[in-house]
Amino acid sequence: MDKDNSLAENPLLAVWTGPFEAPPFDRLKPSDFAQAFETALASAQAEAAAIAANPEPPSFENTIAALERSGSGLDRVAAVFFNLAAADTNDELQAMEREIAPRLARHHSEIYLNDALFQRIAALHAHKSKLGLDPEQMRVLDRYHTAFVRNGGGLPDAAKARLAAISDRLATLGTAFGQNVLADEKAYLLVLTEPDDLAGLPTSLVSAAARTAADRGVPGRHGITLSRSSIEPFLQFSARRDLREKAFAAWARRGETGGVTDNRAIASEMVRLRAERAKLLGHESFAHFKLADTMAKTPQAALGLLHSVWAPAVAQARREEEALQETAASEGGNFKVAPWDWRYYAEKRRKASYDLDEAELKPYFQLDKMIEAAFFTANRLFGLSFTERNDIPLYHGDVRCWTVTRANGQAAALFIGDYFARPSKRSGAWMSSFRAQRKLDGDVRPIILNVLNFAKVAEGEACLLSFDDAHTLFHEFGHALHGMLSDVTYPLLSGTNVSRDFVEFPSQLYEHWLEQPEVLRRFALHHETGEPMPEALLQRLLAARLFNQGFATVEYAASAFVDLALHLEPDADAIDITAFETKQLEKLGMPASIIMRHRTPHFQHVFSGDSYSAGYYSYLWSEILDADGFEAFEESGDIFDPALAQRLHDHVYSSGYSRDPEEAYKAFRGRAAAPDALLRKRGLAGPTQTRA
Ligand SMILES: [Zn+2]
Repeated sequence: MDKDNSLAENPLLAVWTGPFEAPPFDRLKPSDFAQAFETALASAQAEAAAIAANPEPPSFENTIAALERSGSGLDRVAAVFFNLAAADTNDELQAMEREIAPRLARHHSEIYLNDALFQRIAALHAHKSKLGLDPEQMRVLDRYHTAFVRNGGGLPDAAKARLAAISDRLATLGTAFGQNVLADEKAYLLVLTEPDDLAGLPTSLVSAAARTAADRGVPGRHGITLSRSSIEPFLQFSARRDLREKAFAAWARRGETGGVTDNRAIASEMVRLRAERAKLLGHESFAHFKLADTMAKTPQAALGLLHSVWAPAVAQARREEEALQETAASEGGNFKVAPWDWRYYAEKRRKASYDLDEAELKPYFQLDKMIEAAFFTANRLFGLSFTERNDIPLYHGDVRCWTVTRANGQAAALFIGDYFARPSKRSGAWMSSFRAQRKLDGDVRPIILNVLNFAKVAEGEACLLSFDDAHTLFHEFGHALHGMLSDVTYPLLSGTNVSRDFVEFPSQLYEHWLEQPEVLRRFALHHETGEPMPEALLQRLLAARLFNQGFATVEYAASAFVDLALHLEPDADAIDITAFETKQLEKLGMPASIIMRHRTPHFQHVFSGDSYSAGYYSYLWSEILDADGFEAFEESGDIFDPALAQRLHDHVYSSGYSRDPEEAYKAFRGRAAAPDALLRKRGLAGPTQTRA
């Protein structure tokens, strides 16, 4: 075949002319990626080489701005590919992912370890104050210098070669880790055959389970999967202790099933390689290395925060456990409450204490109305409006998209929402982008994506969410706004490309608006009658907000502790991951009735890629900011206070990483965050509290 001709026919390499230059999904085939990656990688390499070999002395323009412009073709192909690999994968994409992940790692190593490039950046950085740069340019130069140093720039050749080999291997292992978890989730279906197997399940869950079974090839039955939106409600409602135990065991053992998808050796090798990498870069441990470039700055600071919530959270969880034990006993249960019992009896306690049950609430949380509520909040705070469109080809029939417009009529972004679970999708919920905002060469507006895993219902039925699901939707939409409102010049500083322990601030802050009566009265409407949630129910829902917070804090913090401990381990050579986990939890005094929110063999935040490694504590770190930050709105007496919303927009949602996060927060709040707001928010501030 004529080479040029085939290139022109590859839709990944063509110019995209549709709205927002969205990828032409209607013309893409998995087989297009191999050639597109070859071509885009070659261009990116040539662009970087040209910057390094420029005979002119280094300037901001010919080095930093040039690097910011380079590799954009590769970024475009990679964004399409990795979004598909996460949200709608198949065997062909998975094979491509295994091949391309280490090659991309090698490409990035080659750039970071290119000495001529590093020398140009170092020379600029050494006299940065004399370059006449504006504050954003100064910041982007600093970030480049930091990134090169943190990737081995300036080290001897032998160390560089080893770092490159480590990156390469970590990319292979991280890909395998994620694919293994997906395989374990795909392989499992709890089929409910007898009517008694459905005991306790509300109708909404029964119909979702029927749909799941049909999708998985067992029509006429009911199926429970290991997706959080399927198994959590099952554990909450199923009166069948034996079935709860069975499903829970499969859920807890993802990545640890002993076969080809077992992740224990992979995780162990990753921990060892990360420790080695940190040492080569002159850091005491991988956690020290990782946290040096965050708000927390040191593992001690992150651990200090975790310890400050741990004791009150365990005390609270013990009280919760006692109450659950009483409920179980009162029903004649002659057993100690186990992890597969917690959600079931907690649901009963919630009903007894607050006259609140999930089945009564759920009809008021329609997916469509919650999307509208998230849009409404963005309109009140930031003046955005949303118009759904059907003229843009998307990658799956369930996916939807909206044009996002500012108050002045200008397009802000394209927003893509992918809400339903399917076997081809990684579990969890996340925000991502097909195109990041930048103004380097013209005003490029972003294409932002939210991917969630709600259980799909049968055609014509309303998709009903739990209050937790609605929180997840608001959380991810908060991240989406951080991407969509971004208003910076340089792509490196764009949107959510900020430190891990700051990035959860805009997302977690946004969740607060879901809990406001003003929002709930308007959007928590019964799916059959259209009636708003009765005021008494709404008040009971909000009163129960702190219910089970001991459990929630303990399961989260346990994961965060183990993540940090693994990456602080001085003797990381051949860690037995699960034995290590058990030992750490024993040391912490983990209650036997609770397990980690993410056990190590399926802890995708930490091992499926690198972004939250030694960084799972970040949610709690950011929570200091969101708890304190939302109090500003409460203090003002207006949850949409325009002046505050403007400052939030200017200093947080639109500023990307163009300034230090601590400074950005102060500019919004008028002062530094006060940590005691966090304990108030979780209901853990009590007389037993010794430090705030
Ligand atoms: Zn998040």
